[in-house]
Amino acid sequence: LALVPLTAVSTAHHLPYLDPRLPTDRRVADLMRRMTLDDKIGQMTQAERGAVTGDPSQITALRLGSVLSGGGSVPTPNTPAAWVDMVNTFQAAALNTPLKIPMIYGIDAVHGHGNVYGATVFPHNVGLGATRDPGLVYRAYRATASEVRATGIPWDFAPCVCVSRDERWGRAYESFAEDPGLVVKMETAIDGLQRGGVLATAKHYAGDGDTRYGTGSGDFAIDQGITVTNRRDFARIDLAPYVAAIHRHDVGSVMPSFSSVDWTEDGVGNPTKMHASRELITGELKGRMDFDGFVISDWEGIHQIPDPSGDPAPTALQVRTGVNAGIDMFMEPNTAAQFETVLKAEVQAGRVRMARIDDAVRRILRAKFELGLFEHPYASAAHIGDVGSAAHRALAREAVAESQVLLKNSHHALPLNKNTPIYVAGRNADNIGNQAGGWTIDWQGRSGDAIPGTTILEGIRQVAPNVTFSEDGTAPVGDARVGVVVVGETPYAEGFGDVGGPSWPWGTPAQTEPKSMTLQPGDKAVVDRVCAAVATCVVLLVSGRPQVITDQLPVMDALVASWLPGSEGAGVADVLFGRRPFTGRLPVTWPATVDQVPINVGDRDYHPLYPYGWGLRTGGGHAKLDALRDTAQARVAAGHGGPGWASKLAEAERAHVAGDDARAAALWRSVR
Ligand code: BGC
Repeated sequence: LALVPLTAVSTAHHLPYLDPRLPTDRRVADLMRRMTLDDKIGQMTQAERGAVTGDPSQITALRLGSVLSGGGSVPTPNTPAAWVDMVNTFQAAALNTPLKIPMIYGIDAVHGHGNVYGATVFPHNVGLGATRDPGLVYRAYRATASEVRATGIPWDFAPCVCVSRDERWGRAYESFAEDPGLVVKMETAIDGLQRGGVLATAKHYAGDGDTRYGTGSGDFAIDQGITVTNRRDFARIDLAPYVAAIHRHDVGSVMPSFSSVDWTEDGVGNPTKMHASRELITGELKGRMDFDGFVISDWEGIHQIPDPSGDPAPTALQVRTGVNAGIDMFMEPNTAAQFETVLKAEVQAGRVRMARIDDAVRRILRAKFELGLFEHPYASAAHIGDVGSAAHRALAREAVAESQVLLKNSHHALPLNKNTPIYVAGRNADNIGNQAGGWTIDWQGRSGDAIPGTTILEGIRQVAPNVTFSEDGTAPVGDARVGVVVVGETPYAEGFGDVGGPSWPWGTPAQTEPKSMTLQPGDKAVVDRVCAAVATCVVLLVSGRPQVITDQLPVMDALVASWLPGSEGAGVADVLFGRRPFTGRLPVTWPATVDQVPINVGDRDYHPLYPYGWGLRTGGGHAKLDALRDTAQARVAAGHGGPGWASKLAEAERAHVAGDDARAAALWRSVR
């Protein structure tokens, strides 16, 4: 029998792996029989678009399995059509190999397709968590999937199923909630992506949001620190979202965390980098949880694996440790060639077993077959109109409205009457970049006119005819009896979110300004100035996490957590003017002081300003409820009733948070 060279597929359309009628596993097995070690290692390697744009033939030469856009890595011009062209150019290079295995392009579309100019930018996950609406989250991620697909991309490094336990974390806003149960409910995000034809990624496995403040090294402390825990809490808080992602939503890929885990509880043990943890990746994730998708490393994640001696580790050790831990594909943005060379040598030296390589490649190929990439490797530009479509913007506006949490509403300051003269102030009132936050066009986000859409001020102006705007609140207030002051944070991503440590040392001044959980002095001044000059003062906080505003609270009649609403500021106006009711509830605890952080529902010593789940409602019957609460709170604040009444108040809040308004009302009545 003459041996036909197995790699000659250019004309061989009858090859089993190219036959879509065959079951995936047969196609995978057939293809793998034909692959060389170089082909296999190539499938395990992912490079950054910036590294291959100048010379896409590297994709062919290195047999790259994947290319990604890191945050803010975008084609020029940044238009949907240019994205389609770029992905197709890379795909052509991937298909220009003997076996014609398509590459898979991956991107961080973490709140809509935020890298792409003109895309619909949804609220960041913290706002979606506030909606408590799994159906809405499904639709938001489904819309994201169609925008991502419209630009030719089949893979999203989202959703973050992190459980944010310490709001000083620079990624707190990427988390749906501090409560693992709520995070699990919001995992409809995975279905939204995957039913929309986009492979989802549950990240960052595991414990990324649960690291102890100040652990880790240098700039990466907190963001990439150490989860100091015990097995029970780790399973309950940090692993639970992955169990659900795998068993209920069949998530296609999982990304390990940059952080480490330390089981000693007192933090003196020997922390293990997640990227090096065979126990947690192979044992727990692929073994006990039976995850059958593939594991994609984080950005140069294996290069943080230390040498056991504490010295900087040789690359070979990092590569084999990562592969042997169970990572299947490696995000090696600028060092793909080196990675391949090193891995090949490790395999040839017997330090990485062929069975491990085959397991990785099998998982990656299965995903590619199931996505239909072999049948339809190229993207068409036919759907670029989905990007930023009116329907998606309407949905985002709905999500914004549902995400708004009304924290305080004295004397029914809200909703506003649209015919009242309104004085709007604050640096986040008319700043769509600040409204969108990090992971928007740039990795770190961008203050100012970063994306098309509607600012909160524009949303207000669409409803109310008589609006004065003064960013710093120094213009004369005139006849405005109502002030709306919009302050909070400016964009950031990863790293420290808190003033306690350094911010990223690059970016615009707004980005490098120290991030704090208290208001910046300028923001405080605007609040004080405007609230002193108007009869009714409404403060909106545009921020990725709670801001400690206890001292400023008395001057505010109404206070709203607006989170990072994204491109559709009109959704904020919808609830301000009562076109929609306020229904959002806190997905994280609102601390009374900075010193309380970290503070989470269920803590023994739990005295926040607003508890987890807090959120006043407006519209339909709720005015009456608010009045009851106001009166009860005022009585207790005035010193009536002693500890008995105070505990009744607390009980009423718990009932209200649990949705038992009848019981809450009865308790509030009883303290009058
Ligand atoms: C982040 C990941 C992200 C990756 C690719 C990393 O810095 O930690 O969440 O998916 O970059 O942009």
